[in-house]
Amino acid sequence: MSALENVELTSQPNGAAAEAAGRIAVENPATGQIIGYVDDTPADRVAAEVERARKAQPGWEALGFEGRARKLKDLRTWLVENRKRVIDTLVAEGGKTREDALLADLWYACDSLGFWGRKAPKFLADERVKTRSPFLLGKRIFVRYRPMGVVGVIGPWNYPLTNTFGDAIPALAAGNTVVMKPSEITPLTNLLLVEGVEAVGFPPGVLSVVTGAGETGAALVDNVDMIMFTGSTRTGKKVLARAAERLTPVSLELGGKDPLIVLSDADLERAANMAVQWSMSNSGQICMAIERAYVEAPVYDQFVASVVDKVRNLRQGAPGAPGSVDIGAMTFPPQIEIVERHVRDAVDKGAEVLVGGHRVEGPGRFYEPTVLTGVDHTMDVMRDETFGPVLPIMKVRDADEAVELANDSRYGLNSSVFTRDVAKGESIARRLDAGNSCVNDACINYLAQDAPFGGTGESGLGVRHGPQGIRKYCSQQTILVTRFGPKREPTMFPNKRIMSRMFERLMVLMWGPRRKRR
Ligand code: NAD
Repeated sequence: MSALENVELTSQPNGAAAEAAGRIAVENPATGQIIGYVDDTPADRVAAEVERARKAQPGWEALGFEGRARKLKDLRTWLVENRKRVIDTLVAEGGKTREDALLADLWYACDSLGFWGRKAPKFLADERVKTRSPFLLGKRIFVRYRPMGVVGVIGPWNYPLTNTFGDAIPALAAGNTVVMKPSEITPLTNLLLVEGVEAVGFPPGVLSVVTGAGETGAALVDNVDMIMFTGSTRTGKKVLARAAERLTPVSLELGGKDPLIVLSDADLERAANMAVQWSMSNSGQICMAIERAYVEAPVYDQFVASVVDKVRNLRQGAPGAPGSVDIGAMTFPPQIEIVERHVRDAVDKGAEVLVGGHRVEGPGRFYEPTVLTGVDHTMDVMRDETFGPVLPIMKVRDADEAVELANDSRYGLNSSVFTRDVAKGESIARRLDAGNSCVNDACINYLAQDAPFGGTGESGLGVRHGPQGIRKYCSQQTILVTRFGPKREPTMFPNKRIMSRMFERLMVLMWGPRRKRR
């Protein structure tokens, strides 16, 4: 499939006709304009695409680590050369700022292409296993990581490069071929990538894209050898259940409700800057966004005042030139309704809106950066994923209460604690039920691709990044090699009384009760 064979760029709003023709209209959420149409790929075409990827896999694997790393680097060069088109597409389909497109999507993808190319040979090297069993004396045992075959990557709409393509990169570096199913809300950037892989000479079928909605994703689950899914917890559970039918391995990166704890000895200016940055960035549409804050009573008023002041100064609007706005649009139409519902529910139960609290009228889909106080855990905004530019702040007695409330969640993705006492911060981080925790920081931990990133509870299964982030795309094979073996080993037939006794004595000698010294 050529890169843009199934995309038709347009500026004419004609969504209904496109849907009737089995196509999906792609909207610019900041302007309301339809910017393209893509295929709603049916199940039989998904199966055919996976088949094509299956045929391409042995050749791709045969290139070896070095050959594949070279291709990944070529693709990185193509991305940098074509950065304007890539960023424009990310901004147009996501409604995000140019800075978010550049740093959180494109930069990450470029870094990742080099990282996995370099690290794959180390993380997937054969591992020698030492065993103490006397029955294995003289035998060599090692574990080898073998690519699974065709990996299906299903992604969300908030980071088309980082969270769809980003997961394809280690799968490719390991020697798999990949079929990506980007979100139907933001499919255009991933289609552009297919143009890139063709331009730099990836063999056909190594990395391809099927566009479509849930049915297309489900068809991918039905056909591939491994599924990497990023999206909501609700869909993640469906994917897991469907994959169970064929016992297809699954890795899930799901939703979050990440807490921020601010202790009274914290650098309040830094904590407030971090709170605003990582609750409002990309309109809060980040799985590891700060979604709730717990602040110790003595510094609560000062922290809230500082956050409110900073939020008031944020510039929101349709992204234009670099540096023109801080906050862009809400990408996904139903998401703005969830945000409105959470704020309404909080206000109905007694919360106070200190800034924001409304949808912005006009073309495009925007929700004002919002700060809530007077919140508690009876409110949806403190318990369910909001995924919008909303920061509820709750006053707590002390660190223990903060930890208890932070852990009162079905999610466990990221978390942060701010204190000048780093040892105390670390000990609090260790008590948080989350896959990842930062002390005096937030979100930036995602860039540490050497370290595993994943969620506990309903935030996911498995990890990305680190050795496990590429081994998950491989099956393990344990190989035992006997070079110099006797014709007959002592454990072989026929069973003999003398040997039986010998093994029994050996067992007592090794693990039996020790004789007391006289
Ligand atoms: P979503 O679950 O609605 O959709 C994700 C993808 O799944 C889309 O491509 C969609 O078409 C596909 N899909 C839908 N139904 C399917 C089915 N039955 N079978 C297979 N695929 C199906 O999620 P979303 O709204 O696109 O993304 C937002 C969510 O993603 C948020 O909850 C956010 O926290 C989460 N997210 C998590 C991470 C992470 O790393 N943990 C990163 C980014 C986003």
